Amino acid sequence: MESRAQLPSFVAGRWQNGLRGFSELRSAIDGRVLGLASSSGLDFGEMAGYARNVGGPKLRALTFLQRAAMLRQLATYLNDRREPLYALSFETGATKRDHLVDIDGGIGTLFAYASRGRRELPDEKFVLDGPVEPLSRGGTFVARHILTPLQGVALHVDAFNFPCWGMLEKFAPTFLAGVPAIVKPATATSYLTHAMFSLILESGILPEGAFQLIMGGTGDLLDHLGGQDVVSFTGSHATSVTLRNHRVIAGEAVRFIAERDSLNAAILGPDAGPGTPEFDLFVDEVVREMTVKAGQKCTAIRRTIAPRAHYAAVKEALVEKLRKIVVGNPRLDSVQMGPLATLDQRKAVRASVTELATEARLVFGDLNKWNVEGADYQKGAFLSPLLLAIDNGRPARKVHEVEAFGPVSTLLPYDTIDDAIELAKRGSGSLVASVFTYDQDVADALILGIGSYHGRILALDRDCARESTGHGSPLPPLVHGGPGRAGGGEELGGLRGVFHYLQRTAVQASPTRLTGLTKAWTTGAKTIAKPEHPFRHAFEDLTIGESLLTEPRTITLEDIEHFANFTGDTFYAHMDEEAAKANPFFPGRVAHGYLLLSFAAGLFVDPAPGPVLANYGLENLRFVKPVVPGDAVRVRLTVKQKTPRQAEHGEVRWDVRITNQTDEVVATYDLLTLNARSSA
Ligand code: NAP
Repeated sequence: MESRAQLPSFVAGRWQNGLRGFSELRSAIDGRVLGLASSSGLDFGEMAGYARNVGGPKLRALTFLQRAAMLRQLATYLNDRREPLYALSFETGATKRDHLVDIDGGIGTLFAYASRGRRELPDEKFVLDGPVEPLSRGGTFVARHILTPLQGVALHVDAFNFPCWGMLEKFAPTFLAGVPAIVKPATATSYLTHAMFSLILESGILPEGAFQLIMGGTGDLLDHLGGQDVVSFTGSHATSVTLRNHRVIAGEAVRFIAERDSLNAAILGPDAGPGTPEFDLFVDEVVREMTVKAGQKCTAIRRTIAPRAHYAAVKEALVEKLRKIVVGNPRLDSVQMGPLATLDQRKAVRASVTELATEARLVFGDLNKWNVEGADYQKGAFLSPLLLAIDNGRPARKVHEVEAFGPVSTLLPYDTIDDAIELAKRGSGSLVASVFTYDQDVADALILGIGSYHGRILALDRDCARESTGHGSPLPPLVHGGPGRAGGGEELGGLRGVFHYLQRTAVQASPTRLTGLTKAWTTGAKTIAKPEHPFRHAFEDLTIGESLLTEPRTITLEDIEHFANFTGDTFYAHMDEEAAKANPFFPGRVAHGYLLLSFAAGLFVDPAPGPVLANYGLENLRFVKPVVPGDAVRVRLTVKQKTPRQAEHGEVRWDVRITNQTDEVVATYDLLTLNARSSA
């Protein structure tokens, strides 16, 4: 059914219609109008102000863990409501397989960031970045980097090809960072973004002002941005250049992240001839990348690079496989590839392929007609898969410059590994490349040869193929972005994606001041002695800096021998005086490091059952000075940091410092324990 109803923007806490200049949002399948979009007349200054003055403070009042919990709630809410989104997503040309990438992939990114936040971020309003930096001889002046949320707004400008994933992969890290976002989807497929945004709003989970939506152009919004704001853009080279050079973005140093077109390559190794698993994997992956989302993926394989010896076989195998691809109405189960997102997009792809065809030969597909199942080729934005090949021996240029953003790839031959590397590099920077080889030397040469030109490299072979996530899938833990032509931006990559929305500040102060600020005990800061042993205190009752100094214990030669024989660690440094002396580090026989750790535990542990539930590891362990028979060691145990992990328990990080009879440090480490919470 046609609908000419306007899909409004969500601005300053309410749905608002545009006034004029409506764009018709059309189905990719048959061109029906699904709705209208316009942002004209909206007050973009109010929008930015609302994000800054309402959304920002509400988000920053929460800790990272609280926002992570909300993200999880939101992901669960959307996950239970995918069906209506799938139904609408068909209209963008997406098949069922494509929904998994856009809708499920988007929701999966929310889940991924929620769990990363819960595991890796603190229950605080800042994040510590790196270790304490000692700045003075006496230890009274130190520094540490902290990260705090920018106090502005994030503007997310998305491309048309992923109306859901595009929104959510930017939103998840931004929200976790505590920065309000405004999403501006590409108008062509914004009806699907609108539907998902409406669900997000309906959920009531997000704080007021955390998220706004523009249906249509950005008006004068950029004029209202400043140095606390971020623009994260996905789209074409031309638009990214316009935005980057905008007076305010350039002048106010607005953070600008660009993800743009990319001529990604797949390279078949010379070892991977016909009959090898890698050859088959290569052919499968190229065809998959050409047809998933009808090739409208920034990561799709545009340049298929094969050794000249296997070139003909690759071409034949690709053509054979492409012949079996059923194009048509994406609602049909039999259809593997739907239409492009719009008729304009088809026109653009035809123009790009025509340009490529001045240097390459079309070996599969047809630019102007194709048999489509369950739909009308002309009414919808259908196009056949199009494989081009450069086999006339002439050097080609356009294949490294023209991006046909559709089901298109060009096959290129190479002679030596160095040639293959040079060809891949001629893309001038890409999001991703794949290498298909079972030869370590070939893999090393290719990966290191093209590494700096790529944000991600997939080395696919028979050992990892079954579990591989594929060439085209950006994943939340891995960076998504590429240098040069690909925009020079980086998104996702676990917490790296969150850090784009935080400011890093180096704070210089005394250890005590820094301890107070960071809630992480800093060496040299004041310690607090309490009458009871710290192991008697529940998680909440432990104070940062609370400290215990044990009695000394003298280590004898008998102790060392007993430990050696008991554990079986009779290494010469503990057992053979002459050999130990000959070692450049030891004055003679020394105590085992593990003996020191064990004795340390024996000194500081308070044995009776209590709030300490388990020791679950040591970090940053260093044996600084050898301990010889007759040395007396004692331990200072200090509460360094507390992280609530679960409702029942939290993680306590203890600073452990073992010293000898002359107060020299012999070993240091962080001990991690799980402590019961008094509220549990
Ligand atoms: P586009 O024309 O540059 O549009 C991208 C976005 O920018 C749309 O939301 C568009 O809005 C908006 N826009 C256009 N002009 C603008 C302006 N002057 N001010 C503010 N916003 C503006 O790109 P496209 O053709 O839709 O997208 C396809 C391209 O995106 C391909 O080149 C593809 O490689 C690239 N892409 C890259 C990635 C990646 O992660 N690297 C992912 C997907 C796509 P309207 O729709 O309202 O014009």
